[in-house]
Amino acid sequence: MEIDKSYTLPKLPYGYNELEPYISEEQLTIHHQKHHQGYVNSSNSILEKLDGARKKGTELDVKAISKFFSFNIGGHILHSLFWENMKPASEEKNRPVGALAKLIENEFGDFKNLKKEFTQVAISVEGSGWAVLTFDDLTKRLIIGQIEKHNLYLYPTFRILIALDIWEHAYYLDYKNERDKFIEGFWNIVNWDEVDKRLEGISK
Ligand code: MN
Repeated sequence: MEIDKSYTLPKLPYGYNELEPYISEEQLTIHHQKHHQGYVNSSNSILEKLDGARKKGTELDVKAISKFFSFNIGGHILHSLFWENMKPASEEKNRPVGALAKLIENEFGDFKNLKKEFTQVAISVEGSGWAVLTFDDLTKRLIIGQIEKHNLYLYPTFRILIALDIWEHAYYLDYKNERDKFIEGFWNIVNWDEVDKRLEGISK
């Protein structure tokens, strides 16, 4: 069935080999083309089901559908953020910029402390999940958090500034079980301009 409005896999803002040596071409290609595409397809399959059932007036298992959708759309949204908050490594030191740099200083003292705390949070995710740096509009503070799977422990209105995928499918080809090495490498390819941009439009 054709659906009018649906989700699509975004293009990466760099080539598949451009995050090397921190993420290999093979790892990135599979992650984007197979895993992320899978979440897009599954999200669309739910829209199709809903459209179909509404047209025919058939009953659906709405609870199961909500759960399945939450997981898959979470996967789609988080991966879309993740790709955009990375960039190819450069010669220069990779550090936070702009208003974000100031906020980090206020909240954590300095960038090193943010890195340390974020790394601890990321390493300690149980099973599959994400580490995120968020901005909480209520307190105007930066808060580091874990998301389990793609959808648990997400807070509405907390703006995700950095998303780091720590599912094994994100790093296993390159790092095997050494999640800490993957996280260490990630700091070289964080796109701080993009992360700072995500703060724009938020009342600080
Ligand atoms: Mn992933």
